[in-house]
Amino acid sequence: MAFDSLTEKLQNIFKILRSKGRLTEDDVKEALKEIKRALLAADVNFKVVKGFVKNVQERAVGQDVMNGLNPGQMVIKIVNEELVKLMGSETTEIKLQPGSAVTVIMMAGLQGAGKTTTTAKLAGKYKLKGKKPLLAACDVYRPAAIKQLQVNGEKQGVDVFSMGDSHKPADIAKAAVLHAQKNGNNIVILDTAGRLHIDEDMMAELQEIKGAVDVHQTILVIDAMTGQDAVNVAADFNDKIGIDGVIVTKLDGDTRGGAALSVKAVTGKPILYAGMGEKLSDLEQFYPDRMASRILGMGDVLTLIEKAEAEIDEAKAIEMSRKLKKAQFDFEDYLESTKQMKNMGGLGNIMNMMPGLGGMGKMKGLDDEQAAQAEKNMARMEAMIYSMTLEERRNPDLLNPSRKHRIAKGAGVDISDVNRMVKQFGEMKKMMKMMGKGGKKGKFRLPF
Ligand code: GDP
Repeated sequence: MAFDSLTEKLQNIFKILRSKGRLTEDDVKEALKEIKRALLAADVNFKVVKGFVKNVQERAVGQDVMNGLNPGQMVIKIVNEELVKLMGSETTEIKLQPGSAVTVIMMAGLQGAGKTTTTAKLAGKYKLKGKKPLLAACDVYRPAAIKQLQVNGEKQGVDVFSMGDSHKPADIAKAAVLHAQKNGNNIVILDTAGRLHIDEDMMAELQEIKGAVDVHQTILVIDAMTGQDAVNVAADFNDKIGIDGVIVTKLDGDTRGGAALSVKAVTGKPILYAGMGEKLSDLEQFYPDRMASRILGMGDVLTLIEKAEAEIDEAKAIEMSRKLKKAQFDFEDYLESTKQMKNMGGLGNIMNMMPGLGGMGKMKGLDDEQAAQAEKNMARMEAMIYSMTLEERRNPDLLNPSRKHRIAKGAGVDISDVNRMVKQFGEMKKMMKMMGKGGKKGKFRLPF
């Protein structure tokens, strides 16, 4: 998960700071030394770390902090604010052309960074906002790239423009813009070719595209997992072709976070979006303050709520909440709720965004292993429910021993597992009834 190892280290440092009532200058210096070590281990650019620690130290060693009521908390607050600053403070939107003019966005990046996938993800975001994007296949070297763009474009329900692989990328870009103007597309996203390393041909080709069409935004896609290499690539691209912003992909698998933390400070260009998974919906707008909260293990409730709003069918959610209150929740409803949870990225992902649980797993909530176990239990429960008839799912009272035997067999579990699940489900409903009536709140456990 994103930033896990950095978060864990920072949490440990903060725990020590919080445990001390008063802080001496040495305490703060010691903590800063540890923070510096943690950031370097997270592959944050050395110069960026130096500047960061200096800023925190200047603010933290001041009289106000040391004499304050809760100096440990104050230091953490300063670290949080400086992290937000490091990542650009404000959220930056991709600037679109005014009115109905076509905006041309050129995507650039090394091969494998996630450019083609991100192009389709971005188009999906624009479509949701009521725009009509056109994807243009300008990567003519990798035969699979055109097909990949077409497949992903189709999944997103957006138009894809391709001229095969026998034309120059600059000509394809030009034709794509004309096509957009004729067909009412107001955004053209050019998927360009990457190489394994920076090379002159690639840069020349991007320049040529820029010469052929009016590119309004050049967006670089970098792979977070490659750490400082990604930051060096960004600096190089910015020097050679000029970029307007960066999309950092694969943040879901990046436990260190060095690229996300350094790229703005090194290139001066903001992170616009973060890729958080392979699914086409796994692209999040980048909010420096929310990201800092996640890094510090303070959770990111706002993103969680937005995800819930985007992924959960509102009508179904209202119906579910009504059923929960009246304790009419049945096994069909349970399946629906697990489906919605999976849409939001699974239990582990949700936990990671919850304050006090994300990254802090090992101290407070579920750690990765426990989350995996919970997901396994959920899958087993689903298997049992899928072995039931629709009637049984709607009315668990029908479940007599012979039906339970059949279900256990179908799901490949023991009959005692079925009994346990039915019992827990019954208890949960009882508890909900009590809570729904406004009765005394008891301790109730979800059955997974
Ligand atoms: P390109 O060569 O830059 O066009 O890269 P692709 O779009 O083909 O992506 C390379 C691989 O990275 C594919 O397997 C993608 O599914 C994967 N990928 C892209 N973005 C993300 C992301 O945000 N998270 C994860 N986990 N995988 C990603």
